[in-house]
Amino acid sequence: MSKIKQVFEYAIDRLLPVGVVVRNLPYVMIFKTTHWCWYNCPHCCESAGKNRPAEFIPADVIKYYTDAATSDPKFAKEMVLTGGEIMASYKFDMKNYVPELANYITERGIRLDIKTNGAWIRNKDLRTKIVPDLININERNSGQRRLPYQLSLSLDKYHPNALENTYEIICELARRNKNKPTILVHISGFMGQDKIYKELLAKLFGNRNIKIEEAFIAAKSGNAIPLHVINRCVALRPSFGAVLFAGGRAQNLPEATPAANPTFEILNQDADLLMAFDGAGNVTLGENSGRKITVPWRDKDGNPRDLPAIRRDLVQRARYEQLRHNMINLKKIFVK
Ligand code: SF4
Repeated sequence: MSKIKQVFEYAIDRLLPVGVVVRNLPYVMIFKTTHWCWYNCPHCCESAGKNRPAEFIPADVIKYYTDAATSDPKFAKEMVLTGGEIMASYKFDMKNYVPELANYITERGIRLDIKTNGAWIRNKDLRTKIVPDLININERNSGQRRLPYQLSLSLDKYHPNALENTYEIICELARRNKNKPTILVHISGFMGQDKIYKELLAKLFGNRNIKIEEAFIAAKSGNAIPLHVINRCVALRPSFGAVLFAGGRAQNLPEATPAANPTFEILNQDADLLMAFDGAGNVTLGENSGRKITVPWRDKDGNPRDLPAIRRDLVQRARYEQLRHNMINLKKIFVK
C-alpha cells in the first residue's frame, strides 16, 4: 500500500472507526441456507415460511467460502448453518445436503452450530434419516474436537410445539446415541423466558428411561457454563439471554426491542464479527435488525465473489453507515 493511501486509510479509520472493527476482528460465518420453513412464526426475523421458495445456497458455494476462510488468519474457525429451516433440505430431496456440509466443515476443525426448529421430528420418514445423520456426523468427527458441533434448538413461546419438539429430539438422540461420543444440544430462548426450560427438565425427569446429571464446561470467557447431561450421551446447554429484535415479522410484535437505525450490533458475545450469507445472494453484518450493512456475495454472472473483496466492501459499507448515522445525529443537534 502506498504511503498516501496509508495516510488516507488512517484518517478514515480515525473518523469512522467501525471500519477498524470490521477489518480487524475475527469473524464467524453464518449461512442462512434457505428462507423456506415449516413454520410461520410471528417473531421471525427472516420472514421465513412455507410461502418462500424452497431454494438453498448451493453446497459448493458454502464449501468455497469454507476453504477461503480456512486460509484466512482472521477467521474465528466458527460457522453456523441455519435457515429458514435447513432440515427442510431432506424434504426437498437434498438428503445429503446437511451431512455433506457438516462433515466438510467439522473435518477442517471448524466449530459448527446447526440451528433447527425441530419440526421434522414429527415426521417419521424425516426423523429416521435426520437423527442417525446427526449421530454419524458427531461420531465421525469426534477425533477433530471433543464436541464437533452443537445442535441449536429454539425453546420459546413463539415457535409452535417448541417444548414437544425439543423433548422428542432429546429423547431420540439419547436413545440412539448410547455409548457414543456426547452430542452437544444448545437450548436457546429469550431473556426472562427460562420457565419453559424448567418445564422441559421436568418432562425429562418424568421419563424413566432418562437419567440427568449436572456438569460444567469452561467458556472462552473463563466462566463455567452449566450443562445437563442426559444418559451420559447428550449434553444440554441452556441459554436464555437472547434479545428479540424488531426485524422481519418481529417488527409487528409490541414486545420486540426497536432496532437502532442503522444498527452496529455486528458482534457476538465473544467480540467476533458476524457475517451472514443468505440465499438471496447477500452478506450482512450482525443481527437481523435495523438498517442492514449488506453487500452481494454473487457477482453479475451469479458466481461467488472472492472473500477478501467481500470483506473490503463490508468495511466500506459499514463506514458509509457510520457516516450516515453521524450526519443524522448532527442534524438532530442542529434542529434542537
Ligand atoms: S423463526 Fe425459525 S421456525 Fe419460525 S418461521 Fe422463522 S425460521 Fe421458521
